[in-house]
Amino acid sequence: MAIGPCVSFAQPGEENKDTTWKTVFRESNPRINDLVHTKLDVRFDYDKSYLYGKEWLTLQPHFYPTDSLLLDAKGMEIKELSIMKGTSKTPLKYTYDGWQLNVKLDKTYQGKENYTLYIDYISKPNEVKVKGSAAINDAKGLYFINPKGEDKTKTTEIWTQGETEANSVWMVTIDKPNQKTTEEITMTVPDKYVTLSNGLLKSQKKNADGTRTDYWKMDLPHAPYLFFMGVGEYAITKDSYKGKEVSYYVEKEYNSVARKIFGYTPEMIKFYSDKLGVDFPWAKYSQIVGRDYVSGAMENTTATLHQESAYQNARQLTEGNSWESVIAHELFHQWFGDLVTAESWSHITVNESFANYSEYLWYEYKYGKDKADEHNFEDMQGYLFSESEDKDLVRFYYADKEDVFDGVSYNKGGRILNMLRNYVGDDAFFKSLNLYLTTNKFKAGEAGLLRLAFEEVTGKDMNWFWNEWYYGSGHPKLNISYNYDQPGVARVIIEQTQKTGKVFKLPIAIDVYNGASVKRNNVWVEHKADTFYFPYTQKPDLINVDADKKLLVEKTDNKSEENYIAQWKYAKLYMDRKEALDFFAKKSMPELAKGLHDKFAGLRLSTIEKISATPYKTDPVVIETIEDIAKNDRDKKTRAAAIKFLAKTKDAKYLSLFQTNVSDSSYSVAGAALEGLMALDSSNAYTLAKKYSSDAKGALGTVVNNILIANGTEADFDFIASNYEKAPPSFDKIKMTGQFGNYLSKINDIAKIKTGIDHMMAFRKIIPEAYRPQTDPAFKAALDKISKAKGKDIQDYIDSVFK
Ligand SMILES: [Zn+2]
Repeated sequence: MAIGPCVSFAQPGEENKDTTWKTVFRESNPRINDLVHTKLDVRFDYDKSYLYGKEWLTLQPHFYPTDSLLLDAKGMEIKELSIMKGTSKTPLKYTYDGWQLNVKLDKTYQGKENYTLYIDYISKPNEVKVKGSAAINDAKGLYFINPKGEDKTKTTEIWTQGETEANSVWMVTIDKPNQKTTEEITMTVPDKYVTLSNGLLKSQKKNADGTRTDYWKMDLPHAPYLFFMGVGEYAITKDSYKGKEVSYYVEKEYNSVARKIFGYTPEMIKFYSDKLGVDFPWAKYSQIVGRDYVSGAMENTTATLHQESAYQNARQLTEGNSWESVIAHELFHQWFGDLVTAESWSHITVNESFANYSEYLWYEYKYGKDKADEHNFEDMQGYLFSESEDKDLVRFYYADKEDVFDGVSYNKGGRILNMLRNYVGDDAFFKSLNLYLTTNKFKAGEAGLLRLAFEEVTGKDMNWFWNEWYYGSGHPKLNISYNYDQPGVARVIIEQTQKTGKVFKLPIAIDVYNGASVKRNNVWVEHKADTFYFPYTQKPDLINVDADKKLLVEKTDNKSEENYIAQWKYAKLYMDRKEALDFFAKKSMPELAKGLHDKFAGLRLSTIEKISATPYKTDPVVIETIEDIAKNDRDKKTRAAAIKFLAKTKDAKYLSLFQTNVSDSSYSVAGAALEGLMALDSSNAYTLAKKYSSDAKGALGTVVNNILIANGTEADFDFIASNYEKAPPSFDKIKMTGQFGNYLSKINDIAKIKTGIDHMMAFRKIIPEAYRPQTDPAFKAALDKISKAKGKDIQDYIDSVFK
C-alpha cells in the first residue's frame, strides 16, 4: 500500500490514552484451518449499497484434526451456511456476533482433508459496526462511489480495499495475511460498466435484464487482503509483457494520456524481473484509478488500485510523472507482498520496506544515481521528521494494526535495505532477495526468513544487523571531528551522541583525498566514541567520512571551508555535492554559485532557490547564468525556478522572456512567467489570467488565482471558488481561506458570497476537533471580514453556519 500523499490532519495524541497495547505481544494468527479455494458469485444493489453474495469456500485443517472453524464476516446478513457434499448442502450450526462466524463442522476433519462450505449472504458495507459501536467509515472493504449517480461531477464506481482486514466485509474468509487461496469471482453488473478483478477474465455473458456477468479466475494462491473488485465506466489501454496483458483502466477523459502515466510499466516489470531473477509471477498486471480512494494506492494481486492523484494531464506530464514512484512501488509488491506475504502486520517490513526501496531501484536504473540519491535523501527526511525513534521496524507491540504503516516500515526500512545492499554488495544483495522469494513463494515471509536468505548467500552471520535495525529502534547521531595536532597523522573522532544510550555497530567507508587522488578505508564504528588514525606525508584536502553516503544517520560533520571546497571539487556523489552546497549557502560563500552548473537538475534548482537568500543574487555573473537556465535548461521545473528568480527582480528587460514563456506547456514555467508579467504589466497579466483560468493547474493555478483574487471581480467567482474548493485539505488551505475571505468581502452577489462561505465551512467540517483551536481563528478572521463588509444578511448567515 502507498500512503496517500496528502496525509494532512492526523489526530494528535489520541492514541496514547489507552496504553494496555504496550503489554500485548502481537503474534501471527494461529493456523488451525487453512483457506484452499474461494469461489464467489456477486451482484450489486446500487440503491442500497449492498452486495448479494454466494460463496463456495474450500478449507482444510492445517495440521491437527478439528471439528470447528472461525471465519471473518464483518457486518453481514448470513442467510445460509451449509457444508457441501457433492452437490447437496447440509446446514451447519454456527454462532455469529456480526464480526466472526464460529462454525461447528459436521465432523472432525483430519489435517489436509478438504471440505467446502456454501454461504449465502448480504454485505452491507455502510452499516458495518465494530462490535456494537458506531458505523465504521475507514475500513468498509467495499465502496460504492456515487452509486445513484446523483453527483453529476463524478462517475459511478465500485472498488474494494482489503488491507488490512477489510475484505471480510464483502466476502467470508479467514482475513489474515498468513492465509493464501486461489480464487474465482463472477460479478454481475450493468452492461455499460467494465469490471476488474484478480487473475484473468475468462468469460463474459450478457443477461436478458441488461446486466452482464464477468467471470474472473486466479489460479495461483494469494492472501485474502489482496482480493479486488473494480466496476465502472473505464477506458482500457493494453500493453504487454512477454505475452501477458499489462493494462490501464482510466476514466475516458484520461484515455489519451493513460500510456503517458502508466506506460513504463512493461519496462518496470522487465527491470524488476531481471534484477530479482524471478520473472513476473502472475497471469496479467492491471492498474485502475478509483474516485475518492481512501489510501494512496494498493497492490491487489494483478489489479493495483491508484487514487486520483495518478490522473495527470499532458501539460502536467511535461514536468515528469509525479506518480511514477507509486507505480513502481505497487508493482514491486507483486513480488514482495503478493508472492511472499508478511505473515503478520508486525512483519509488514518485508512488504513495505521493499516496495519503498523499489522506488530507489527504478530511479537509479532509469534516471541515474543522482535522481535515486535525491529520492533516498527525501525519504530519509520523511523518517527523521516522523518522530518515531522509539519504534522497532519489526513491530510486535502496537495499538492498532494500521499503525505499522508509517515512516519506519516505509522510509526507514527502505534506507535500511540501501545500507544492507551497500554492506553485502550488489551481487549478494539481489541473490539473497532471489533466495528469499524462491524459498517462500506463495507462502508467508518474515524478517527472520530474510536474514536466513542473506546468511545462506553471504556466509556471514547477520544477527548483529537484524538486531540493530530490524528488531531495534532509533538511529545513530554522529559527531565527526578531525584533529591534526600530531604531525603526520590525521585523527578522525566519531562519537555517537544519541540519547537512547544504544550504541550502533556501523561499517563505514572513510575516503582520504589529496587533490583528486583518493584512498578508501573501510572501518567499523562500534563504541560510543571511536578514533581512527590516518598517517600522511601531505595534509589531506578532505577526509570524507561515510563516503558512500548510505548510512541512516544524523550527523554533525565538523569539516572546514577548505574541506567542503575540496568535497565539491573531487567527491562525486549527489550527497557529497549537496552537503557542500548546503555548507556554502549556510556560510554565504561565493562557491554556492557553482551549483548552478551541476549536472543534476535537482541541485541546479535548489541552488537557484538558495542564492535568493544571499548577496550573490545581484551578482551579474550569477544573473547571467540564471538567465541562461531560464531560457535553455532542459528540466522544466529548473527553468521555472530560474524564471521565478528573474520575476522577483521586476526588471523590465525580462518582459519578452515572460511573454514567451507564459504559454509554455509546463504549468510551472507558465506560472513563473505570469508572475513576472504581473509585476511588469498587470493589466495584460489579468487578461491572460482570465484566459488561462480554464486550464490552470499547479503553479499556474496558484498565480492565476492570486491575480484574479487581487483584481476582485465578481465575474471570476467560478474559478476562484472552485480553486479553493478543490485544494486538498492542508495548512496551506487555511492560508488560502484568508485570501478567499478577502475576495468574498469585495464582491456583491449574495448567492455567490454564501456559496463561498459554504465552501469554507465544508473545509472546516473535515478538520478534526482537536485541531480546531489552532485553525478556527483563521476561519473567524475571514468570516469577520466578509461580515463587516456585507452587513446583516450575511452576518446572520455566518452565525447560522459557523458554530
Ligand atoms: Zn506499499
